[in-house]
Amino acid sequence: METLTKSNYINGVWKESVSKKSMPVYNPATLEQIAEISYGGKSDAEEAIKAAKNTFPTWSSKTPRERSTILYKAYQLMTEQADDLAKTITKEQGKPLKEALGEVKSAASFLLWYAEEANRLYGETIPSSVKTKRLLVIPQPVGVVAAITPWNFPASMITRKLGPALAAGCTVILKPAPDTPLTAIKIVKILEEAGIPSGVVNLVNGDAKGIGKAVLSNEDVRLITFTGSTEVGKYLMEKSASHVKKLSLELGGHAPILVFDDADIDQAVDLTLASKFRNSGQTCICANRVYVQQSVYETFTEKLKDKVRDLRQGNGLEEQVDIGPLINEHQKDKVMTHLRDAQEKGADIYSPHNDNRNHLSNGLFFPPTVLTNVHKKMKVMHEETFGPIIPVQSFQSEDEGITNANDSNYGLAAYIFTKNVDRSVRVSEKLEYGIVGINDVFPALAEAPFGGIKQSGIGKEGGHHGIHEFVELKYISMGISL
Ligand code: NAP
Repeated sequence: METLTKSNYINGVWKESVSKKSMPVYNPATLEQIAEISYGGKSDAEEAIKAAKNTFPTWSSKTPRERSTILYKAYQLMTEQADDLAKTITKEQGKPLKEALGEVKSAASFLLWYAEEANRLYGETIPSSVKTKRLLVIPQPVGVVAAITPWNFPASMITRKLGPALAAGCTVILKPAPDTPLTAIKIVKILEEAGIPSGVVNLVNGDAKGIGKAVLSNEDVRLITFTGSTEVGKYLMEKSASHVKKLSLELGGHAPILVFDDADIDQAVDLTLASKFRNSGQTCICANRVYVQQSVYETFTEKLKDKVRDLRQGNGLEEQVDIGPLINEHQKDKVMTHLRDAQEKGADIYSPHNDNRNHLSNGLFFPPTVLTNVHKKMKVMHEETFGPIIPVQSFQSEDEGITNANDSNYGLAAYIFTKNVDRSVRVSEKLEYGIVGINDVFPALAEAPFGGIKQSGIGKEGGHHGIHEFVELKYISMGISL
């Protein structure tokens, strides 16, 4: 077990928390304690905000090229240290090592993209209707940013925020999830090694409510960039009103998959499986519910069940493992509640790995499960499950499929399987989601705008769009003599 007594990073110094409290970190596959780290709170966050405020003038006045060089160095270091970082992710988060390595590559790609994007943050000139005026628009960094991140992608959710924030010239207080702080600590060490000046990035682990209060009550924090549940997102939104802080919110999802009768069924089965069971179903854009057109419903579900039977569940550090554990007891209880609710309301359950329960009893494992005979009153069909359960329902017409898919308060991602080009365009335009995948379930790329609509959030991360969350546009009107 590692003891990291100085695991908050404030103004360039690794520190204990002001209270001297610490907290344990567990491996969800074994339930063994793997580390003890500092448990900070309101006072630590206040110190971090002060450091970020003091450093903002120097960091924001560096040239984009200077900031870009540090981000590019961080990208190189993360790529070199990918294996080590991936092992840390698997140990504290549970996802299989191959997935963890994929996440590190994705995390590094955000550093690379925003190292490049720093140099492309252009303003504009506007042709004036008045002869004696010249009109300029310049982007400027918003200032001090609080970045609050979840445990399901402990590396990429951090770099997707830090990359654009640092490229734009903002300074940051990072509060990672308590289940996965070790990845966050390593990322901050990478930035330190890359030459980030003291006070530009500050890390505070610990009490969410205390850190949240420090951030919300301080007028110097101009933007909260949050990824997590819709419930906490709404709380942050409400409490930000008093200072009119900017918000960028990446919240929960409830992604539908629509499989049409003209789809390549084998491809649809393979990608449904990949989407649903990646990270044990704990992915904001993973399929939560699957709708299959009546004429191919039977074929699809039988093929899906065959593939689910072949999945290997276990400790992600072991080779060949496809599915790891869930993150914590709370998450396991939630998934179990969804399963029981579906069972009580008449769903048929296919769970071929139930027999392995004893073998995996030391960890927080939940067997991959297919539900048929489901309907919209079941929790799995209208709430985010965040676990390895696939409910499959049939539909008749294209319109019925679209209506089912749109019947949600969430609007993050939706997927369509069809080989008909007209249909793919028609349906994707009617889906009320921020992201649509057509014969594709992995849409998240550094160069593309990622984000939800409705109760799935506000704003975009990734692409040239992502950096705009971290800037304010200043309009300059120049009166000139001709
Ligand atoms: P969560 O419970 O909302 O927590 C997210 C982060 O917010 C954690 O660091 C948490 O710390 C912190 N937090 C909680 N209450 C806070 C408060 N009052 N003030 C300040 N910070 C606070 O979500 P989660 O369970 O970690 O993550 C799962 C959720 O994230 C799912 O709904 C998923 O869909 C969503 N997600 C969305 C995206 C996207 O891009 N849209 C990506 C990934 C995940 P504590 O744990 O200490 O409370």
